[in-house]
Amino acid sequence: MTAAKQRIAVIPASPYALVAGRHWPVAVSPEPGELLSSWLHRTAHGNGVPPRYFGAFLGATAENWSARLDRDLPDHLLQVLADHTGVAQDEIAALSLVPDPMVQLRLPLSPLPSAAPLAAFQPSWLQYCATCLSEDKNPFFRRAWTLAARVTCFKHGCRLRDRCPSCGCGVAPHRQDRLVPQQFCAFCGASLCKATRGSARTVRQIETLIDDLLHLHASGHRAVGGRSIPDLLAASCFHSNANPSAITRLSAKSRYHLFRDLAAGELSLLKQDSQCARYWTQIVQAARSHRPLVRSFAGSIDIWHEKRPQSQNVQAELSDLFHALAQLDAGRKAAK
Ligand SMILES: [Zn+2]
Ligand SMILES: [Zn+2]
Repeated sequence: MTAAKQRIAVIPASPYALVAGRHWPVAVSPEPGELLSSWLHRTAHGNGVPPRYFGAFLGATAENWSARLDRDLPDHLLQVLADHTGVAQDEIAALSLVPDPMVQLRLPLSPLPSAAPLAAFQPSWLQYCATCLSEDKNPFFRRAWTLAARVTCFKHGCRLRDRCPSCGCGVAPHRQDRLVPQQFCAFCGASLCKATRGSARTVRQIETLIDDLLHLHASGHRAVGGRSIPDLLAASCFHSNANPSAITRLSAKSRYHLFRDLAAGELSLLKQDSQCARYWTQIVQAARSHRPLVRSFAGSIDIWHEKRPQSQNVQAELSDLFHALAQLDAGRKAAK
């Protein structure tokens, strides 16, 4: 050894709290369309706390703690999350499902996911697109996946799934007790990203029309008779199982088969004696011609408005078209 000894300088670090303030060590930004519970699970994982214990740390002690916060986020917890993550309160609140204009069509919280596989018709409150999860840089669950009227990913055209493809248990990232990302099953550890089959075109037609109608509802339109569109859709019962069930009480697979059979003309699945059933019947019958109608409607507005041609990939939303028409009408009146 040489006589020269290396000197290592030891400098006392600043206390962590002085450097980071009240913020948790790792900041996790919400993704577009992300569900609050998904962001909470990612925040927990990023900061080295399994989601199951993160709920207890926040004082949310219910078994399905994060899904409950999706539906009811107390002000004091909103303040805590904003203080510790640096994400603005209004941005956090926008991840939750409240206020919820689609509340009647949300998949209900019960029954709780357990370590037992779900029965084929048994619903789960959380669905997902396996391809979206596999393509995400930071896999996350979307708010739109909690709607019972959705059985297809509009981006990939594939079917949504509401259980683990390996063990058949419900999706329960809130009860993960190990440091494992939420795209892995909390019960068996298998990846949830196994691809699903594509949705039939007729099923997507019904879903697209319903999606447009729900956009109309969210922008303030009401159905004939003053009832809300989600209420009309959710109140009807279907004979797809032994007992007639509302659409929110069916599994993703049962709802997919229901849409497929309705599109094939099996309207006997509907109880035909109610206003809600008549509404469903009209939707099924109008679904095939809906998208061409919206396209021609959009084309007409473009001609009136002398807009530059839009990309063929852009899908017109019916509610946007109504909004554009209202603006044109207001403009014409103002010009007189
Ligand atoms: Zn997808
Ligand atoms: Zn599993």
